[in-house]
Amino acid sequence: MLPLFLLLAAAVAGPPDLPPPASGSLPADAVRPLPVEVSAYIRWARKQLPVPHPEAAYRFEADVHATLLPLVEAMPQRVTPVRLGRSVENRPIWGFRVREHRTPVTRKLLVFANIHALEWITTEVAVGFLQEIAAHPPPGVEVVVVPVLNPDGRAKVEQDLLSGRNVYRRGNQRNVDLNRDFTVNREARAVWRHVIPRRYVTTAAPLSQPESQSLERLAAQEGFDVAVSLHAYGGWLFHPWAGDWERPEDRATFERLGREIQRGQGGRAYNVKQLGRWAFFFRGHGMELDHLYGQHGTLAFLWELTRGRSPLAPATWKTDFRIYNPPDPVRAIRRDVGGLRALASSLSWEARSLLAVPPGQEARRRVPAPRPGNGGPAPEAPRRGPPRPNEATRPG
Ligand SMILES: [Zn+2]
Repeated sequence: MLPLFLLLAAAVAGPPDLPPPASGSLPADAVRPLPVEVSAYIRWARKQLPVPHPEAAYRFEADVHATLLPLVEAMPQRVTPVRLGRSVENRPIWGFRVREHRTPVTRKLLVFANIHALEWITTEVAVGFLQEIAAHPPPGVEVVVVPVLNPDGRAKVEQDLLSGRNVYRRGNQRNVDLNRDFTVNREARAVWRHVIPRRYVTTAAPLSQPESQSLERLAAQEGFDVAVSLHAYGGWLFHPWAGDWERPEDRATFERLGREIQRGQGGRAYNVKQLGRWAFFFRGHGMELDHLYGQHGTLAFLWELTRGRSPLAPATWKTDFRIYNPPDPVRAIRRDVGGLRALASSLSWEARSLLAVPPGQEARRRVPAPRPGNGGPAPEAPRRGPPRPNEATRPG
């Protein structure tokens, strides 16, 4: 339900489709004392010192903040840092809240990246999206972008790159796969769990890691309408359920939003698919998208960015870093920032339409209940022998 004061604010602010203020101009309330996260972030970010490194097309985490700090300093009311929590090694996990202050917020979008240590293309896309919406915030939509959810895992990869080591890394400091650490759909039921049990593992207990707890805190506090968790690779727009063959009750909405994203991606857009139906043997248990959807009612996507190894580029076969992160990320960044922008625009259109709905008549989506029991249909026999598990090709 839309509170009365928001409608009054809308009336005072004028029509919602006014163009946003020019990039760099501060809203009138920018002279107020900064929220504590802003000054804490600015102090912290100024101490992060970029170092020369061998992956010039990608940012180390210090470079990420060298890019974002000027945005926060110039427009702290528009790009506001929030600290979600801290990693195992006590690194802060930063999110950035972006909003345009003239239009009441009726939609919230979460975009987070780098839950898996090696998947750096996701951070580049998150930063690119953040730069775009900082310049042109989508009216009526508050967006929170988390460029690095797993800073310890990323720091290990940074050390690997600096010392020329090729190491496969997915987890956090304790080598825990954060994307098997959530609460919903943890129980494996598919018959294939007996054939390839390592495909169906979860962490020992839900929300056992500070990084997954940090995401949960943010999700519980904010109540996002839509969320996107960025991964690599494969070229997919996955939606729940990941841990169940059964269709989600919001399937039509996922597919509609998927089409909006595809429009924004342009040529060679990714396919939309339920993750639990990616392959007959695949289920993902304790994953972020099922948690956000099943626990909070957030329409959550898992994107697998890029199509990975290319037969025409032998370099993409040689190192684990290169499997996930193309030598030249520009095309991927353009395509996937385009997809995120289209999603934000679609939500902005919805948000502004909602301003015309009388209070009390807004339809609310209810939180779907994850269904126990059904582990999928009677599975077909695999045609070419049992699938060979391969860590690097596992989605999610
Ligand atoms: Zn991943």
